Amino acid sequence: MATLTEEQWDTIISTFREINRKNEKKCEDLLICKKCKLQFFNKNYHGNYPLCDKHRNNTFKAIVK
Ligand SMILES: [Zn+2]
Repeated sequence: MATLTEEQWDTIISTFREINRKNEKKCEDLLICKKCKLQFFNKNYHGNYPLCDKHRNNTFKAIVK
C-alpha cells in the first residue's frame, strides 16, 4: 500500500466532504407544487413538473378515468 502525503490526504478528505455536502443537499430537495404552490420535499423527484401528494393523487385518478 502506497503511503500518502499530507497534501494527498487533504485532497481526499476535502473530496469526501464535498460529496457529503452534495448528498445532504440532495436529501433536502425542496419542490414547489405546480398547481397549488405548496412547498414540499421529495428527494426522489427529478422532473420539471413537481406536484404535492394531494395533486399527484388527483393526477393519478385523472389518468385512471
Ligand atoms: Zn398541490
